[in-house]
Amino acid sequence: MSDVEKTRSASPAPLEWEYAPAPEARDIVSLQERYGLFIGGEQVEPRTGEWYSTISPATEEHLAEIATAGADDVDIAVQSARDAFENGWSQLPGSERAKHIFRIARILLERSREFAVAESLNGGKPIRESRDVDVPISAAHFFYYAGWADKLEYAFPNRRPRPLGVAGQIIPWNFPLLMLAWKIAPALACGNTIVLKPSHTTPLTALLFTDVCRQAGLPPGVVNIVTGDGHTGAALVRHPGIDKIAFTGSTEVGKGIQRAIAGTGKRLTLELGGKAANIVFDDAALDQAIEGIVNGIFFNQGEVCCAGSRLLVQESVSEQVIAKLKRRMGTLRVGDPLDKNTDIGAINSREQLDRITELVESGREEGAEIFQPECRLPERGFWFAPTVFTNVAQSYRIAQEEIFGPVLSVLTFRTPEEAVEKANNTAYGLSAGVWTEKGSRFLWMAERLRAGVVWGNTFNRFDPASPFGGYKESGFGREGGRHGLDAYLRFE
Ligand code: NDP
Repeated sequence: MSDVEKTRSASPAPLEWEYAPAPEARDIVSLQERYGLFIGGEQVEPRTGEWYSTISPATEEHLAEIATAGADDVDIAVQSARDAFENGWSQLPGSERAKHIFRIARILLERSREFAVAESLNGGKPIRESRDVDVPISAAHFFYYAGWADKLEYAFPNRRPRPLGVAGQIIPWNFPLLMLAWKIAPALACGNTIVLKPSHTTPLTALLFTDVCRQAGLPPGVVNIVTGDGHTGAALVRHPGIDKIAFTGSTEVGKGIQRAIAGTGKRLTLELGGKAANIVFDDAALDQAIEGIVNGIFFNQGEVCCAGSRLLVQESVSEQVIAKLKRRMGTLRVGDPLDKNTDIGAINSREQLDRITELVESGREEGAEIFQPECRLPERGFWFAPTVFTNVAQSYRIAQEEIFGPVLSVLTFRTPEEAVEKANNTAYGLSAGVWTEKGSRFLWMAERLRAGVVWGNTFNRFDPASPFGGYKESGFGREGGRHGLDAYLRFE
């Protein structure tokens, strides 16, 4: 036995060690007891007289009372947006609109810690993500579209771009601030005014944002925020004073909206669900790919429309990839969203947890093999352990339906043609990822994948300059980039 080996065998077994908690301080966010509707630049009481409680999904603690807007409230908000459109905002020179949008971006960055904490508190996502992704990319969207506000004629040469009027914007709970930024920034840059409805489970950052609008000196009525549930959203969709609906959410509700506005002349963009394939070839840098797979499905608890929820791995490396993936999953820390060490936070709501649980059960029943690393889940709140399914057939519900949770289904393939066929075998078409060392193979794949975004050797990358949107049941229209302006303009 060598000296080194002797020392090793003599030393005690390595101790189990835990990360010390590193909680982000909560006191940077001071919440009001109650939040009214934000209409005409002020908080107003809802005509309905109804309020509901918004909670933290990690602890189920009550955070604040939120107003429920009814059809009358929506009507007042739309009227306020119309007045602001006609009496100033749409006639303002682009360079003046740009100043406001730029100010919003700057204030968001100045208050970034506050927004990150509020986002994690109300939505359940890890502070590491809200701090490093949601808030900075939201600000980046405002910076980016501030730059376009006075250059619309250059964006669309030889055409005369004009704003549409009042935009009704309905956003989901998975990226409350980021979706708000994706919607509001281009609409303002193009000279529209807005009535926005956040999801009823995550209204807080939208309500904090109203303060940013005031700080930035945005004229009253240019941005209005109406809170409430799907009924509030439906009232906004139906309102005759709305010129355009921009919706992000489930395919089912998206289809209903499309039916509701058919024949009204309202413009529509829909950003709906997804069931993205993350495709790993045998020549890929596998350790890097593992990080991409983890990011693809466990980022934001997998509650991401473009999540890489189907892993397609080339048969020759599948055992190796699955073994590495399981090992890596064992290192993921699930728990307090406000702890800076946390990788996977709380599921957004009890309803969403029930939906995930039901789909995972269907996976077991249909015959897939489940793996979950050992992890202690907190007793209160809504939690789901990171999960991977192997032995998955394409027909299983877990391979077809959007789970919107930290659940990955693994399928294998032998040839690039088979990978394309399996990747495209879905009703959705929002995103895809390809892991390979060969540039030519990446381009070959990208040409054939029916997805709005195809990432190469990376996943879940968002840039305000890059258009994002889907094919098929993932919706239509693009957000981001120059394309994102088109959705808020008409041409004379
Ligand atoms: P929804 O589509 O119901 O919610 C999206 C937004 O639409 C929310 O603001 C919601 O309000 C609002 N809304 C609900 N019903 C109507 C309606 N009839 N008319 C107008 N607006 C409406 O998504 P869920 O929260 O119910 O999630 C269900 C599933 O949808 C998830 O499991 C996931 O698969 C998918 N989803 C996809 C998202 C994406 O980014 N593509 C985002 C969220 C969910 P409120 O939340 O207040 O009810």
